[in-house]
Amino acid sequence: MTGYTGQTPDTLARDTDWMDDADCQGYDPDLWFDGISVFEAQRVCAGCVVRLTCLEHAMESEASTSLYSRYGIFGGLTPGERVALRRARQNAARSARRRARLHQLRLEAA
Ligand code: SF4
Repeated sequence: MTGYTGQTPDTLARDTDWMDDADCQGYDPDLWFDGISVFEAQRVCAGCVVRLTCLEHAMESEASTSLYSRYGIFGGLTPGERVALRRARQNAARSARRRARLHQLRLEAA
C-alpha cells in the first residue's frame, strides 16, 4: 500500500493532453509565427488530427484579444482568419437569437 502524496495522479487527463498529438512537433516553430511560411504551416495543420481542438483552444484564449495582438497559425488559420471566424460565429448566434425571438412573438400572437 502506498501513502497519500497529495500529488495529482498522472492518469488524470490534462487540458493540454491533445498537444501530445500535434503534427507541428518536430518542426521549427518559426513556421507558425514568422508570417512568411504561412502556407507551409497551414499544409502541416491541414493533416493534423488535433486541428479542431487546437483551433478552439486558440479561439478561447483570444476571446478578448484584438486582431493586432493575435499572432501565429493555430488550427490552420491565420489571426485574420480567426477574427473572421469569430465574427461569422457571432453573426450566426445573433441571427439565431432573432429567429427564436420572432418565433416566440408569432407563438404569442397566435
Ligand atoms: S493544428 Fe497546426 S498548430 Fe495546431 S497542433 Fe496541429 S499542427 Fe500544430
